[in-house]
Amino acid sequence: MTDITQTGAPVLRARAAEVPPEEIPTPEFQALVARMVEAMRKAPGVGLAAPQLSVGKRVFVVEDPELLMSALSPYELAERLRVPVPLKVFVNPVVTPVGDEKATFFEGCLSVAGFSGMVERWLEVEVEALDEHGQPVKWRVRGWPARILQHEMDHLNGVLYVDRMITRTFGTLTQVKALYGGKHIDEVKQSLGVE
Ligand code: ZN
Repeated sequence: MTDITQTGAPVLRARAAEVPPEEIPTPEFQALVARMVEAMRKAPGVGLAAPQLSVGKRVFVVEDPELLMSALSPYELAERLRVPVPLKVFVNPVVTPVGDEKATFFEGCLSVAGFSGMVERWLEVEVEALDEHGQPVKWRVRGWPARILQHEMDHLNGVLYVDRMITRTFGTLTQVKALYGGKHIDEVKQSLGVE
C-alpha cells in the first residue's frame, strides 16, 4: 500500500496554490519538501509533486539516480536521452518548451500506480523556479529530464498523464515491461497500432 495519493482524489485535479517566497524557509515547508523527497525515493520514482501527498502547493522534486537506470539497456537509455539527475527542488515553477521537437515514450505516474501509457512531450524545455532556499533557478534540459519536468508541472495544474496519453497504448506496467522492454519505440508503436 502506497502513501502516495491515488487518482480519483480531487487534490490531483485542482490547480495548486503559489507558495509565498517567505514561506520557503519555514520549518513546515522544509518538512514538506523532506517528506516529498522521502516518498519519491521510497516509491521509487523520478519525480513527485506536492498534490501527490495531498498538499495543494506549487512545488515538485525530481531525482533520477544512476541506480534506477540499471533496468534499462544502453540502447534504451540513449533512445530516451536518459541521464542521471541529482536531486532538485522547484517552487512556483514555470516550464517553457524550447524549439518544436517532440518525443513519444511510455510514461507512468506514482498516482496511477501499476499502469503506463505513451505520451508525446516536448523534447527540450526550460524551467524557471525558486529552489528550496528561495533562490531563483533556471534549468534548460533535453530528453528524459525534460519529460519529467513536463509531467510534474502538469500535476500542479491538476493534469495527469492519462489526460495526454495515446489511449490505445495504456497498459499495466507488468505488460509493458514484459512485452516492450528493449524494443525500439517505433516497433512498439506499430504493434499497438499507433500512427
Ligand atoms: Zn505523476
